[in-house]
Amino acid sequence: MSEGSEVKARTYLTDGKVKVLSCNAKTAVIEVSGSDSTPYVVQFNGVWACDCPARKPLCAHVIAAQLVTVLRAEPTVSLTSDLSLDDLVSMSADR
Ligand SMILES: [Zn+2]
Repeated sequence: MSEGSEVKARTYLTDGKVKVLSCNAKTAVIEVSGSDSTPYVVQFNGVWACDCPARKPLCAHVIAAQLVTVLRAEPTVSLTSDLSLDDLVSMSADR
């Protein structure tokens, strides 16, 4: 995972581009305005998913969403991500 995504994610936060549409203990829907006029929709339902074309397991939008929520992906569920939960935790603990 590049450090660039996390830097970008923090820029989304500081620029006020992250909008939480709904969030509870199990699910979340978060809108992130990217470079496009159409905001990307990040959803959490046990796993994180984003509808942007990046197709990365963890794009900047998902990282931004993770920064504003306390939701964690379930370690047993790994559909698209080759990152372990430890990776995610250590990454968000960076800086
Ligand atoms: Zn994305």
